[in-house]
Amino acid sequence: MTIRVLIWHEHRHEQTNKLVQRLYPKGMDGALKKGFAGHKEFKVDTARLDDDAEHGLSQKRLNETDVLIWWGHAAHGDVKDHIVERVAKRVYEGMGLIVLHSGHYSKIFKRLMGTPCSLKWREAGENERVWIINPNHPIAEGLPEQIFIEHEEMYGEPFSIPEPLETVMISWFEGGEVFRSGVTYRRGAGNVFYFRPGHEAYPTYHNKQVLQVIRNATRWAYNPAKPWKGIHPAPNVPHDKAPVPLKVKGPTLHAPGEEGFK
Ligand code: ZN
Repeated sequence: MTIRVLIWHEHRHEQTNKLVQRLYPKGMDGALKKGFAGHKEFKVDTARLDDDAEHGLSQKRLNETDVLIWWGHAAHGDVKDHIVERVAKRVYEGMGLIVLHSGHYSKIFKRLMGTPCSLKWREAGENERVWIINPNHPIAEGLPEQIFIEHEEMYGEPFSIPEPLETVMISWFEGGEVFRSGVTYRRGAGNVFYFRPGHEAYPTYHNKQVLQVIRNATRWAYNPAKPWKGIHPAPNVPHDKAPVPLKVKGPTLHAPGEEGFK
């Protein structure tokens, strides 16, 4: 079994900010990719916003991706809407999606959640303790009771997301706020995980336990079933094709075989 992973990264701060360049000389995506090194069940590739006109997310590439990992911050608005729709369709068909940190405001996350996905924030380099509150969950495999991160940006509740399928982690910050920092969803046939840590001004993606969460989440999000293509169309089933023989008993709005409204 090989899980085909695509790490998608905005890669704008690395070009403009010396601090981010110093922390992530190969890009944040380079650090994230390194987290998979030595784990042979993964085949990992990267794509960046400015790779090409499709942000490195052609239909072919998405079709060959089992789990997509998404980090964006300053340029959510530069991601083209038709590419967002393309990614959403693949999630519905069964591609896994892991959204990291400031990706809470990405078009794809908001599209799949259907809510504002807003939160409180503060950049003060404070301690974060990521408490694992569902230790039996596959995403928590091999991790201690809490992950201590020395410097992080604070994200605070209320986080305006839909009620999660599962809450795996809650973060506590030195300044007193708390946040649901590891939450799961199912959208169509796709498994979605949001994971909070990863502010670009701190070395969070060099933290072994953070990378382990992302690896665990990738395994968890992987859906080995064939893509559920039938999730998209809304077929009109004529009465003579009903599973049980049926007579038409009343008037109809649509002509036989007509497409429905979308
Ligand atoms: Zn941030």
